[in-house]
Amino acid sequence: MNRTVIVGAGVAGAQTALELRHRGYNGAIALLGEEHQPPYDRPPLSKEFLKPATEHHPLDLLPAQVAREQAIDLRLGTHVDGIKAAEQKVVLGDSSTVAYDYLVLATGARNRPLSVPGANLPGVWGLRRLDEAEGLRRALDHARDVVIVGGGFIGLEVAAAARARDTNVTVVELMPRVMARVLSPEMAHHFAQEHRRRGVEILTGVGVTQLLAGPLGNASEVALSDGTVIPADVVVAGIGILPSTDLAERAGLRTSDGIVVDRHLRTSDSRIYAIGDCSRFDCAVSGRDLRLESIQNAVDQARFVAGQIAATNRPPANDRPTALYTALPWFWSEQYDSKLQIVGVAPTEADSVVRGDPSSGSFSVCRFLGERLVAVESVNHARDHVAARKILAADPTRLRRVTRAAVSDAAAPLKSL
Ligand SMILES: Cc1cc2nc3c(=O)[nH]c(=O)nc-3n(C[C@H](O)[C@H](O)[C@H](O)COP(=O)(O)OP(=O)(O)OC[C@H]3O[C@@H](n4cnc5c(N)ncnc54)[C@H](O)[C@@H]3O)c2cc1C
Repeated sequence: MNRTVIVGAGVAGAQTALELRHRGYNGAIALLGEEHQPPYDRPPLSKEFLKPATEHHPLDLLPAQVAREQAIDLRLGTHVDGIKAAEQKVVLGDSSTVAYDYLVLATGARNRPLSVPGANLPGVWGLRRLDEAEGLRRALDHARDVVIVGGGFIGLEVAAAARARDTNVTVVELMPRVMARVLSPEMAHHFAQEHRRRGVEILTGVGVTQLLAGPLGNASEVALSDGTVIPADVVVAGIGILPSTDLAERAGLRTSDGIVVDRHLRTSDSRIYAIGDCSRFDCAVSGRDLRLESIQNAVDQARFVAGQIAATNRPPANDRPTALYTALPWFWSEQYDSKLQIVGVAPTEADSVVRGDPSSGSFSVCRFLGERLVAVESVNHARDHVAARKILAADPTRLRRVTRAAVSDAAAPLKSL
C-alpha cells in the first residue's frame, strides 16, 4: 500500500491529509504533529481570541473523530527528529521510524526571538501557538501598560485587541512606518491613523534595547534606542517568524530562508514536498522566489500536493507530477472595524494608485510595477477585492488593459475591467 507521511499538523498538514482522502487516495496517511491539540486555526489567536468576553475556542481543523473516520493516523505530541531519505523513513523522538512513499513537510514556522537583554523575563510573550495565546489573553486581562515590539500584522492585531480592554498600548517599530514590508505607504498610513485615533501610541524608527525587571522579577519597563524608557507589564514580541527548516537541513534538502521547492512544490528530493510557511517556491504569479505566510498559501499548496500524490495512486501509475503550482496569493487582516484584504504580491518598490477616499474608511490601493498591476489592497471593500482577484488571475494580455488611469476612477467598478 502507498504511504504518505505528513510532518506538521498545522493547517497545511491537516489540509493535505483531508484533501488526499477527498481525492480518493486509498493509501495510508500518517499526520505527525508535535503540538498536543488537534490542528487548529491560528488567525483568530491575534484577533477575537484575545478580546475580552468572547468564547475562546479556536476552530478545530481536524478533530480526532474526523481523523478516525477518514483513516488518518493523527499522532499528536509527536516530534519528528530526522529523515532517512535514502530509506524513505522518518525518525521519531523515541527512535522509532515511519516509512513513506511520499513525505510532505508542513513544519511551519516559529517566532523570531527578541534578542535583547531581558527578553526571557516573565511577562514577555510571543504569539504563534494556542498555549501562548491563552497565556497572553490571561495576562491582558490584568494589564495596564502593554508594549508591542513590531508593527507588523500580528503586532497591530494584538494592539487592537488590547485596546478593547482599555489598556495603554504602545507599538514600537524599527522601520519608519508600520507594516512597511507588506503594505503600501498609503494603506499603512490609514491603519496607523486608525490605531492612533483609538489611543494606541505608535513609535516608529526606534528599537528596543532592553527589557527591565520590576521588584517581582517580571518585565516592567522597556528601554528604547532613543533613550526613553516606557512602562510595560505585558510585552508582546511580534517581530516575524523563522521557517522551521532544521529537519530538512539535516536531511540534506536545499534550504534558503525556507525549504526550497520547484514549481511542483517538490524539494531537492522528488519524494519529499514542502508546503505552507516553511516552503520557498518560485511564485508563477509574481515571477519571484517567495515564502508566504498565509492561510491561502498553506491551503492551496496542500491541495496541490494532495492532488499530485493522489494522482500516483490511480492506474496507470504515474509517478511524475505534471501540473505546475500557479495559485494567486491573497491575504487578510482585521483591526478594529477595518477588514483588510490583499491580492497579489507587491515588492516594496511598487507604486500606488489610490482608489476611493481613504477618509471614508472604505477604499483600495492598486499597486503597479511599471505599467503592470501586481496587487490590490482593499479595506472594507469586498467588491474591489473580489474583482481584483479575477483581474489578477486573468491572462497577462488582458491585464494590459488595466491601467493606472482606469483603476483610479473609483466610480467605475473594477469588475468592468
Ligand atoms: C496569531 C496569528 C495570526 C495570523 N493571522 C493570519 C490571518 O489573518 N490571515 C492569514 O492568511 N494568515 C494568518 N496567519 C498565518 C497563518 O496562520 C499561517 O500562514 C499558517 O498557520 C501556516 O500554516 P502551516 O501549516 O504552514 O504552519 P503552522 O501553522 O506553523 O503549522 C506547523 C506545525 O508543524 C509542527 N512541527 C514543526 N516541526 C515539527 C516536527 N519536526 N515534528 C512534528 N511537528 C512539527 C509545528 O509545531 C506546527 O504545529 C496568522 C498566524 C498567527 C500565528
